[in-house]
Amino acid sequence: MKNYALIVDVEKCTQCYNCVLSCKDEHFGFDFLPIAAGCQELEQHWVDVRITERGKGDKVFVTCRPEFCLHCGDPACMRFGDAVYRREDGIVIIDPVKARGRKELLDSCPHGAISWNAEKNLPQKCTLCAHLLDAGEKEPRCVEACPTSCLNFGDLNDPESRVAGLVSEHEALRRQDGVVRYFGEPGRVITGSVYLDEKEVCEGAQVELIHGDECVARTRTNGFGDFKFRNAPEGELTVSIEYQGKAPVHYVCEDMDSDREIVLA
Ligand code: SF4
Ligand code: SF4
Repeated sequence: MKNYALIVDVEKCTQCYNCVLSCKDEHFGFDFLPIAAGCQELEQHWVDVRITERGKGDKVFVTCRPEFCLHCGDPACMRFGDAVYRREDGIVIIDPVKARGRKELLDSCPHGAISWNAEKNLPQKCTLCAHLLDAGEKEPRCVEACPTSCLNFGDLNDPESRVAGLVSEHEALRRQDGVVRYFGEPGRVITGSVYLDEKEVCEGAQVELIHGDECVARTRTNGFGDFKFRNAPEGELTVSIEYQGKAPVHYVCEDMDSDREIVLA
């Protein structure tokens, strides 16, 4: 028996929307009974790319995250009766006949993965393209269409598979129990702007990011006096700034993300 995994490497998503378009191409206008009825053309996506912006000005970091039904190990949606079932390979299916008219299913998913097909009076979600896998295809349409290896699909029971390798490499993946799992989520964003006085920016200052006693990252301020670190670790972080004859500045980053303006004395 297969034990499917669809592993999303968040850092590799470039917001190309190939996953969204290919899913629509596969499922709009076609029924794959008994697994799924076709989706609506508009106002319904079984996968969508969520964009998160952090920081401000020219220190913005953008993260793109393709989001699907997770095909949870213990699906909350299944507690709403027999219209939803979980297959032995891990795929969670909303039965397109039994679920007809059951709009309350939309509230059963804590991840907001179920959407309403108003034309068919039907709650629907990603099927992991089970109709293709059952017919012998190696991967779902969206995975096939992804050009960056952001989406990785395979069988965890095959120790040689890429997904099995990713799970053994990344502890975060071992903590998730659904078919769809994520890694490469951005860490803390630490940014700042350094000035020589109230009018003049400080270019070329050395900036270090200290975690415990260790310098975990080092950079220099750019022509605008700005510095930025992404994927900074959890725990107490200190920023240390040094520039020529000026007194060094050290400060503790108290929030998850930090953006400071510093005038050197
Ligand atoms: S993500 Fe939501 S819809 Fe998908 S299996 Fe989990 S609870 Fe059900
Ligand atoms: S696995 Fe299939 S149904 Fe699910 S989002 Fe990808 S293309 Fe759509």
